[in-house]
Amino acid sequence: MGRPHYLRVAAFAFAALLTCGILLADGDTQPGRDPKQPVDEAYTAKIHKYTTQPYFSSPLVDYLPADKNVPTPEAVLGDVAGAPGILPYAEDVYRYMRLLEKATPRVKVFSIGTTEEGREMIAVAVSSEANLKDLEQNHERLAKLADPRTIQLNDAEADKLVDEAVPVYYITGTIHSVETGAPTALMELAYRLAVDESPYISDIRDGVITLITPVVEVDGRDRMVDLYKWHLAHPKDFYPPLVYWGKYVVHDNNRDAMAVTLKLTENVLNTYVGWDAQVLHDLHESVPYLYDNTVGDGPYNAWVDPILVDEWQMIGARNVADMNKFGMPGVFTHGDFDTWSPGYLMFIAAMHNGISRLYETFGNGGADTRERTLEPDEYSRTWYRPNPPLPKTLWSQRNNNNYEETGLLTSLHFFEQNKRLFLKNFYLKSKRSIQKPDEEGPAAYVLPSDDPRATVQADLLRVMFKQHVEVFRATRAFTVALPVKKEKKPANPAENEEKPKPAAPTSRSFPAGSYVIRMDQPYSRVADALLDYQYWSPDDPQKTPYDDTAWTFGELFGVQVARITDLKVLAVPMERVREIPAMGGVQGEGTLFAIENHAEPALATLRYRLKDANIDAAEEPFGVADRKFGRGTFLIRGVSRSDLDASTKSLGLRAVALASAPSVKTHPVRRPRIALVHTWLSTQSEGWWRLALDILKVPYDYLSTQALAKIPDLNARYDVILFPPVGWNAGLTNIVDGLPMSWGNPLPWLNTPETPNLGKIDSTPDMRPGLGWEGVTKLQSFVARGGVLLTATDTSQFALSLGMANGVTAASSEKMKIVGAIVGTRLVDATSPIAYGYDEKISAYCDNGPIFSVNSLLGSRRRHLGPDANTRPTGRGTKDDPDFVIGRPAAEIPEEPEREQWELPTPTEEQLDNNPRVIPPTGRARVILRYADSKDLLISGLVEGGNDIAQHPAVIDVPNGSGHVILFSIEPIYRGETENTYSLVLNTLLNFDSLNAGRKNADK
Ligand SMILES: [Zn+2]
Repeated sequence: MGRPHYLRVAAFAFAALLTCGILLADGDTQPGRDPKQPVDEAYTAKIHKYTTQPYFSSPLVDYLPADKNVPTPEAVLGDVAGAPGILPYAEDVYRYMRLLEKATPRVKVFSIGTTEEGREMIAVAVSSEANLKDLEQNHERLAKLADPRTIQLNDAEADKLVDEAVPVYYITGTIHSVETGAPTALMELAYRLAVDESPYISDIRDGVITLITPVVEVDGRDRMVDLYKWHLAHPKDFYPPLVYWGKYVVHDNNRDAMAVTLKLTENVLNTYVGWDAQVLHDLHESVPYLYDNTVGDGPYNAWVDPILVDEWQMIGARNVADMNKFGMPGVFTHGDFDTWSPGYLMFIAAMHNGISRLYETFGNGGADTRERTLEPDEYSRTWYRPNPPLPKTLWSQRNNNNYEETGLLTSLHFFEQNKRLFLKNFYLKSKRSIQKPDEEGPAAYVLPSDDPRATVQADLLRVMFKQHVEVFRATRAFTVALPVKKEKKPANPAENEEKPKPAAPTSRSFPAGSYVIRMDQPYSRVADALLDYQYWSPDDPQKTPYDDTAWTFGELFGVQVARITDLKVLAVPMERVREIPAMGGVQGEGTLFAIENHAEPALATLRYRLKDANIDAAEEPFGVADRKFGRGTFLIRGVSRSDLDASTKSLGLRAVALASAPSVKTHPVRRPRIALVHTWLSTQSEGWWRLALDILKVPYDYLSTQALAKIPDLNARYDVILFPPVGWNAGLTNIVDGLPMSWGNPLPWLNTPETPNLGKIDSTPDMRPGLGWEGVTKLQSFVARGGVLLTATDTSQFALSLGMANGVTAASSEKMKIVGAIVGTRLVDATSPIAYGYDEKISAYCDNGPIFSVNSLLGSRRRHLGPDANTRPTGRGTKDDPDFVIGRPAAEIPEEPEREQWELPTPTEEQLDNNPRVIPPTGRARVILRYADSKDLLISGLVEGGNDIAQHPAVIDVPNGSGHVILFSIEPIYRGETENTYSLVLNTLLNFDSLNAGRKNADK
């Protein structure tokens, strides 16, 4: 196929660019090489060779300046950055950065921590020699701008600092391991910034400290490079999908900026805040050719300073303009990314008074040069994309590197040219964060010291510490005024007269020791965003939220958080705390110890830690002396007081020694043998479960569906099988069949000399087989013979498809839209051990969970019940008269039993007659938790069409043979953010052999 005419014209224009050097003038310094500086001819020739069309390049990157003292990326790569077939390991990237550091005083490398698997993360500073010598003094200036309290919020003083300070622009690469281009682009970028003497680049070098973390997801990068090398060695084969990135999570590693559960988030956050940087710019690859999603689309996050919104638009628009001037197609900044959720890595900056930025460039998932064909919505011309990408083109990693580097260099230059503005903005955003109580409110958030879930409260406060939020503790009790809520005037005033509402409280008191998160601090915004409520209107023009619509941490953790607007709270005597004060331990005298159950995950940790102790759970509330204990209270024997004291102190749990045993029905709380099952299709969701269990030190075997199918007797090895959500719309067929076996080649995930970073977490010679029907039989037999299978969302549907949960059906709804929202649920059966420690109302994370219904008959729909069920037909008489029949005496109409949506209907006499489909009472579903009524469903986020799921079961315990299948419609363990619902899973584990405790007598 010949090249189209217009491409030839462009090729000509490119030649013109090369010879003229600088074509584009915009009043500022012009981009392009310094003719006096020699060019590395061989390297430059290769840049041209690997760039598939001249317009996929720019005058900033179409040459490489030479410096005889400084090695180019070729020294490590053996070729140029972005060369086909070359993907360096993180270690190689680091080696190059350290070569640069040795060769030039313009580069410094810093170690910023390690990953879960112990690999190093680095940050590379590139700037002028003078700037790098002055790092400490410069940081002092930036730190004052970052915390204007240090200069008494004095604008004149700030202006002086703004004039003297050199800003920091932080760039992070390849957090998403299948997006492979950034490391080589950043190697070359560091070289250019250190070496290039053109005015355009030396402006940047002299005026900005560019900080680079070339590889964010280091564990995943090394696995990706292994895979790519495997692909090069087996060019004709399909190569295995990158099923593991980091140790725990895949793509969600870029959704951790709120709870900060992953090391990579913590390390980048500490670096960003530690340097008092102004920008965090994160590099991704999924959209052709460069989508600067900084501007994105609404709704914007409602907690950021409007100054930031202005900066996003200023930088984004200018970035697109600069690259359009170079004639690079497919560069745009508006688009379908909304800026609502603060969970993205880049949002660390938005939440800490900086500027968040993100590029999606175009990548080939490796370093192959490939013909790429786009979808119509990718190449269509729109108002914000007047020069869209081409429908079809040959694309190389070098093209990708050209776009990334050109985008970054133009951004850095614009940032440098306007650095006084951006530094002043940085100061103003920090100052306005401190002025928040007076200017916009609230004044503070208070976490009361008498919260019964003290260990979970501590975990929430630890998130605040990780976010560098200052936390205080009131040294005495205090009372604050509550805002007066305006009552909505009823349309008909007479209606309101009947039942006057009790007056809302006008003040609230907090005990001494309560935690206060003041809003007059530099990082008030991140605390405000995490602790506040979200509302996403169903009428919002944005119909496809990009991610979760809610994250209210008090609700997701299940701890009390009070938003206080009364400024008096700031005058309460308090002291700063940098860690949670020691709490817990044993009180009282006796050899039997009781620990109240408040559904704290730490109880599971304690159970596993006290291996030899006998622990029982109380099946009913009881009292000892004047003290009341709730259902699920741990009664502990066979452990020394000192051992228990040490354990409970380290976990923050409070134990009470009892003089005598209470008379209450109990059952043993044992340490179950757990299997956590994953597919080879996706490990994203289960990774968060694994991480939660590891943090809690709850041991488990990690098994693939393939491995599970090979175990001869599952009951001999395990008590509970956890099968977390799979994602990726995995239905029964996908889970059972896996990937196609009838064609293609085996997809190994093995630790071999060829792929030294694969395997380890789990391995297989072939990822394709799924659970298989033999595995299904094993799983069914495991439950029938007494095992407990716990499933959630799609794996619950899987269990239902297999007929493993009699009397439960699942539906979906076209109308319903619950997008990563927090919903209200209600305890239905508090006597179930799964519910131990919970109050009646439980907030839970839901993402369009399956709509469960329960029935007492197999394969039968529920009868339509409710208010409309018994309306009378048209006939004689009034509405309330019984129906009237001519020609026979009236027959009394039997009363329909009223059943709520979550209640199991009792079979009618007719249904019971000679009907083998009636489930015996002992085999019927037991609803533990249900969704709240429609009006109470929305706690935070977007809930539309909630009627369809309101009141339906949310957690169900279904007996099956001698075992149980536990079904979740909510997601109990998710992104390290949902500690409130962890104990629904942990309670199932600890009470695995007593799940029938409290089951109603009628059912026996
Ligand atoms: Zn990405």
